[in-house]
Amino acid sequence: MLAVVKTKAGYDNVELLEVEEPKVYGDRVKIEVAYTGICGSDIHTFKGEYNSKGLPVILGHEFSGIVAEVGPDVKNIKVGDRVTSETTFETCEDCIYCESKDYNLCSKRKGIGTQANGSMTKYVISREESCHVLPDNVSLEAASLTEPLACCTHSAMEKTNINKDDVVLVIGPGPIGLLLAQVVKSKGAKVILTGITRDIARLELAKELGIDITIDTLKENLEEIILKETNGYGVDKAFDCSGSVVAVNSALSLVKKKGDFVQVGLFAEKSNLLDQESIIQRELQYIGSRSQKPSSWKLALDLLENNKIAVDKMITKIFDLKDSRQAFEEVMKGTEIKVLIKS
Ligand SMILES: [Zn+2]
Ligand SMILES: [Zn+2]
Repeated sequence: MLAVVKTKAGYDNVELLEVEEPKVYGDRVKIEVAYTGICGSDIHTFKGEYNSKGLPVILGHEFSGIVAEVGPDVKNIKVGDRVTSETTFETCEDCIYCESKDYNLCSKRKGIGTQANGSMTKYVISREESCHVLPDNVSLEAASLTEPLACCTHSAMEKTNINKDDVVLVIGPGPIGLLLAQVVKSKGAKVILTGITRDIARLELAKELGIDITIDTLKENLEEIILKETNGYGVDKAFDCSGSVVAVNSALSLVKKKGDFVQVGLFAEKSNLLDQESIIQRELQYIGSRSQKPSSWKLALDLLENNKIAVDKMITKIFDLKDSRQAFEEVMKGTEIKVLIKS
């Protein structure tokens, strides 16, 4: 079968290769892949910015498909089931995080599409526990967005919680920011989404998605707008989905005292000069949110089933597997929202 393989570390080294079909065993499920979303992290991998262990590996961790075969120990998942799968391929099954199913925090966790073979190919292997059967009304295209959406339900519904009277700031209108803004909207809160001038098309889309206020921070005064919207108190919660130090620092002092600031975006550098003064003086909770865990997937699939996420507007291009190179290039141009590869 053809597969998109990161062959070795460094820039590019991503090739479309003929590889052997994987086999099921134990509690493993073999899924015939339908769609795979290209994630920002795939682009980092393409550019060689992640120190990747365990190469070569087939890329692809945001996917949907149909079960083709199951291992002898698989109990509930059946051949023919329409599924999506968590990215957890293997954990230590022994640490305190595994015990509480916080698999995102297990230090020995191996992920599909990073340390274990991913879905940019015909068949992918996952463990039964990671598989979720799709609700009937959720399409295979939409289901390929469950993983990034689960990262957002984890941030907005597990690391903090949103009340319907909240005014919430979301920084960064990339796929994660746009999904997160919709998750927050689904809880009835008012959402302010910020970007910069080159994000203008994404901010326009955000309005179509029902986001209340969108701001180009290079042209508009963020502080003025937030203080006006919140009677001078600041937003109840803020989420950074940009990983921009400048953006984070412009927002920390605009969070209400005792409010939550959730850090979702990864920074380019390990340590940065952040406005800690605001964290202390305003008694903010500065919360890290990493990836997703089983409970986040249930929340994400619930939102998809109840049509709370405008997936069709999020998926802007679909490429065949053989054109995956073009798909990667399209994502790197930065003009699409979510690009899928059809297996
Ligand atoms: Zn991803
Ligand atoms: Zn563990």
